[in-house]
Amino acid sequence: MTEITKNCPCCGATMAFDPKTTTLTCNACGFQCNQQEFDSQNVNELDLLHTLKEIEQYNEDDESLSVSCPNCGGQNDFPVNIVATACTYCKSPLTAAQNSKRTLRPQGLVPFAIPKDKAQSTFKTWLKSQWFLPNKAKKLNLRDSLKGVYRPTWTFDFTSQSFYVGERGDYYYVTVKTKNGTRTERKTRWRGASGSVRLDFDDILVYASNRLDRKLQESLGGFMPKQAVDYNNDAIMGFDEESYDVKLTDAFEEAKSFADDRIRSEVRRDIGGDEQRIFTVNTAYSDLSYKLLLIPFWSSTYIFKGKSYTY
Ligand SMILES: [Zn+2]
Ligand SMILES: [Zn+2]
Repeated sequence: MTEITKNCPCCGATMAFDPKTTTLTCNACGFQCNQQEFDSQNVNELDLLHTLKEIEQYNEDDESLSVSCPNCGGQNDFPVNIVATACTYCKSPLTAAQNSKRTLRPQGLVPFAIPKDKAQSTFKTWLKSQWFLPNKAKKLNLRDSLKGVYRPTWTFDFTSQSFYVGERGDYYYVTVKTKNGTRTERKTRWRGASGSVRLDFDDILVYASNRLDRKLQESLGGFMPKQAVDYNNDAIMGFDEESYDVKLTDAFEEAKSFADDRIRSEVRRDIGGDEQRIFTVNTAYSDLSYKLLLIPFWSSTYIFKGKSYTY
């Protein structure tokens, strides 16, 4: 049974996770629990085919979770696919993870590493550099508008084996006669080419949140999954947690189309020559596995009408 809130052993007020010290810290008296030693033994790749086969029995429905605040007693109805957020009435950190009916829950998370004040100052500097924003937006009170959100992402590992049929084009040059003498003309000799390429994919990221700007997602880079630790309630306290909007099956299709781009350029490299034509590529996937992870974002949803700024 996971706890809905964490209370301070000294004064009883609610506690939140502090990225600076990686401890739960009391909002009222400043008491800090022992430093978190994060485990990462549950952050394993899970068998994708097995899950995809059984996914129809799984509950992947969007959820609207409710929880009553142990601190003030207030009834909180969270927005759809929000698992943790602050109490509407007393602002205590609340999680409703224990009420989720979803079968696939995050195995791991990448803990917040940048404290809010640092995030704020970086964000302020960035805001000033955005010429297209009205001055009013730049002067907003950031303490209220910037919030820490854990957003879900799928990661995929697999090996691809592709058989291709195409043509290889090699340039050659001929001398042709013209009225004024001769000139050199480039021609291409095409020959049939076929073969196979094998690629290993590690941690293809597919973001599972619809609340995030796709361009920002792409700029994040692929280093995050390696920093993941086991999902734990303490690290969530004081932040929002979203559950996935993009389902596993759809995410896998996206991962395959990402892989396809790399496979095709690998096929071109394998064909060689100056130009390549690809007629068919047949790809089989093996060693398929996936993870569901939470990744930290400092989000400024209120300022940009749904656009988020990330660290
Ligand atoms: Zn306290
Ligand atoms: Zn409350």
